[in-house]
Amino acid sequence: MRSIICELLNIKYPIVQGGMIWCSGWELAAAVSNAGGLGVIGSGSMYPDILRSEIQKCKAATDKPFAVNVPLLYPDLEAHIAIIIEEKVPIVITSAGNPATYTARFKEAGLTVIHVVANVKFAQKAESAGVDAIVAEGFEAGGHNGREETTTLCLIPLIKQHVQIPIIAAGGIGSGAAMAAVLCLGADGVQMGSRFAATHESSAHLNFKEEIVRAGDGETALTLKEITPVRLLKNAFYQQVQLAYENGADKNQLTALLGRGRAKKGMFEGDLIEGELEIGQVSAQINGIMRARDVVEETMAECLMVLQKTNRAYNFD
Ligand code: NDP
Repeated sequence: MRSIICELLNIKYPIVQGGMIWCSGWELAAAVSNAGGLGVIGSGSMYPDILRSEIQKCKAATDKPFAVNVPLLYPDLEAHIAIIIEEKVPIVITSAGNPATYTARFKEAGLTVIHVVANVKFAQKAESAGVDAIVAEGFEAGGHNGREETTTLCLIPLIKQHVQIPIIAAGGIGSGAAMAAVLCLGADGVQMGSRFAATHESSAHLNFKEEIVRAGDGETALTLKEITPVRLLKNAFYQQVQLAYENGADKNQLTALLGRGRAKKGMFEGDLIEGELEIGQVSAQINGIMRARDVVEETMAECLMVLQKTNRAYNFD
């Protein structure tokens, strides 16, 4: 299966691995790219020297295209941008900020630019800023998320009506069947995060990977909208946040409760009690820790099978 996204990114399958803090280093990115998808280094949790080393290791491990995800609210943003350009990373995925500020600079340096959005307004803004494609991420997604709570099922057709550039659907996509569904809605490809967080190549702590596999439905929530909305597992830390809300905590109190480095504590150090465990709703469907290559191949095979089966199941005459 090839799509406009495959042409744009020079990849075999229209599957992009989400750039996830503490989960997606060079090993995961290279494995996904080598399997025919687009591997993505999540730079949000990396100091600049670490990012440079991860990019260099990724280049040594794959001759296929890969990307770096850059949250535009990252404290050392300028240093990250300079490294991405110097190291000639072919594709950048920007998120959590205004695409107008950096897109021209990346484009001048010859990069393909993708921006992550969660509503129509920002999709249009990204298109006006000159990005090559957008990731449209619905409410189901893990980690940072839109305030509007628009689900992927509603978001993709809405955005499709308003922009001309290719759309990569994200949020709630952990299987080939879900991929088939969003392609039917008008997406040109998919981005999957949670499914890749629970792979052998993910840099997440084993405790977190096993917790993703254990989690059932209804075990994630989108919270902390006053600071930065984030979807995470409802662990003991989440219960502390809920209690703070019940006691009428304001933004400052919530910020103090969150503190610093919660995501690292949970996802990288494996503290399932005090850490922040960012993951999507699709964690309920993840039943095992797999190799990234197998995730890509299984997803593609299932997607094609579902599309063919659906075609056969209905009489369109
Ligand atoms: P915190 O402020 O709680 O902690 C900062 C964390 O980031 C620390 O663990 C620190 O590592 C690490 N870090 C890496 N580079 C820097 C730097 N230049 N300055 C300070 N800290 C750095 O932030 P979060 O952990 O919540 O988020 C970190 C980043 O990840 C942010 O840029 C945020 O926007 C992004 N993020 C993106 C998400 C997404 O869904 N795309 C989800 C959540 C966060 P150390 O402990 O080793 O010092």
